[in-house]
Formats: sequence, structure tokens, C-alpha cells
Amino acid sequence: MTTPRLKISRQALGSLTAHVRKGFETKYKKEVGGHLLGYGDKNGFYVGRAIPYNTPYSTRTGWGINQYYFRRKGLHLETKRLKWIGTYHSHVEIKRSACTGQSREDKEAHIFFDRPVDIIVRITNHRMRAPGICLSYKEMRNSHVYFFDICGFVKDPQEKITMINVEHTARKQR
Ligand SMILES: [Zn+2]
Repeated sequence: MTTPRLKISRQALGSLTAHVRKGFETKYKKEVGGHLLGYGDKNGFYVGRAIPYNTPYSTRTGWGINQYYFRRKGLHLETKRLKWIGTYHSHVEIKRSACTGQSREDKEAHIFFDRPVDIIVRITNHRMRAPGICLSYKEMRNSHVYFFDICGFVKDPQEKITMINVEHTARKQR
């Protein structure tokens, strides 16, 4: 048996990191997030698209969604091939500190939504320690360096949450 993994398409990765970077670059830095569309298979999960979901209530430490409307939009976004399988949101660095793990609220939201996947994208301007199971890479842009750590969490039918190996369909950048 192979280790279950979460595979992210190049397109999903691009829109996810662009959205997270945009939140990070706003004046007071903002957490952002959205829906993940894809499917589960025998190897784990595949994320084909990541769709930003913006709310006026997001802050540096919270994303502030209305769970009812968020759920409704998630179901609305589904296509024949790509189903709403989970959510993503960012954790932004503040004074060299930002967590790659789920907060208590993140866990509660993960349990609340009847979807298996949760992704946390940490963005920092400094290289920081991250679990090897996360997909980590850096990006140079307009003479700034951004470090992304993309960490995946899955929930089994008993609502037990475990981390999952995150990969993307293109070659890893180191
Ligand atoms: Zn969080």
C-alpha cells in the first residue's frame, strides 16, 4: 500500500499561492482562504482547482467566513468531475511566527464541514521550520522572497484528523 497523498494541480497551486500572497501583502496582512475542488481516489486526494473566497471580516489571525454561505457556494461550485472536497486558508507570519498546524478553531471548522480535506498555507518572508510532509518552496517576486509551506489535513469518517503528504503535479522547486 502506498502512503496516501494530496496532489495539487499546477493551476490550483498557482491560484492558491497568488491569493495567499495577495492577503499577505495587504497593509495589515490578512488571512485568506477558499474552496478546494477535486476528488478522492485510491491514492488519496486530488485538488484540481482552488477558488478564492473573500470576506470583509478577515484579519491577521482569522478568516471570518459565514459557514452557511460558504457551504452553499462550495456545493454550487461543483462540476461533474470536480467536487467540493475541502477548504484552504492561510497563516501569515507576524514577527517571525506563524503556525503550519491547525488551530483549535481550524479543527472545529474542519469537523463542522462535511468535507474531508483542510489545507493550511503558511506564508513568511523568512525560512522557518516546517514538517517534511508539507509542500515547501520559495518564490522570488519583485525582489521579495516568499516562503510557502502547504500542509494537508484529512478527516476520516470517525472524525479523526491526520496530516497527509502534499505534492504537486509539476516538479518540486527547492
Ligand atoms: Zn487557521
